[in-house]
Amino acid sequence: MSQTAQSKPGQSKPGQSKPGQSKPGQGGRGRGPPIYGRGPPGAADARPRRPRREPEVEVWVPKTILGKKVDSGEITSIEEILESGLRIQESGIIKKLLPDLKSEVVDVGIIQKMTSNGQSTRFKAIVAAGNENGYLGIGQGKSKQMRIAIEKATSQAFLNIQPIKMGCGSWECRCDQHHSVPFKVRGKGGSVTIEIIPGPRGLGLVAGGKIKRLLELAGLKDAWTTAKGSTPTMTSTSKAVLDCLRQTFSQG
Ligand SMILES: [Zn+2]
Repeated sequence: MSQTAQSKPGQSKPGQSKPGQSKPGQGGRGRGPPIYGRGPPGAADARPRRPRREPEVEVWVPKTILGKKVDSGEITSIEEILESGLRIQESGIIKKLLPDLKSEVVDVGIIQKMTSNGQSTRFKAIVAAGNENGYLGIGQGKSKQMRIAIEKATSQAFLNIQPIKMGCGSWECRCDQHHSVPFKVRGKGGSVTIEIIPGPRGLGLVAGGKIKRLLELAGLKDAWTTAKGSTPTMTSTSKAVLDCLRQTFSQG
């Protein structure tokens, strides 16, 4: 790389920096040593480019009877499973039946604990999954590695997925579209109490940041909310939101 400093100004013609001719480090700039850390222009062409690694896609191999039925196409809707009261034990089932499910990390934290061997540090994550159209699940995961905590939480969220009965309970609107909750619902989780009040179309979600995001993932579009208690505690808040959405089935 020491010859690079000698490159004459005459060499820096644009015609000479053809991909085949340029040596690594030459750069075709003629302005002193190359900038380290950012490959000189042309160097990327001289080297065979490594193909970009594809994101790893896990192939789902069903293990349970229910999973095999879903995989073979015997069961095609999630309602079928939820109505029959079967327990879903594989997140692959959910992924197959609700392919447009989005997952989102709601909260991460560190758990520190004194043990006989000293201090142990673990991570916890809360992930919400929803299809923005009537399904929401929230899961928690803990691990020594943040990535694994998130993975665990994501598959928990998939397994915890539950339907939401949507409707229009607003007396100002009285349409029969599914854009809000069918009536006022209240849910509790820890110290947190959340109320969701149906709103007219075009209102939007009147809620605090993270609660709003959860309701969006669930598919609600217009609603008022009230929240009491320590809402920054996402463990309680997400429980309260799920409880609220479960209550949509309580009447009528
Ligand atoms: Zn309406």
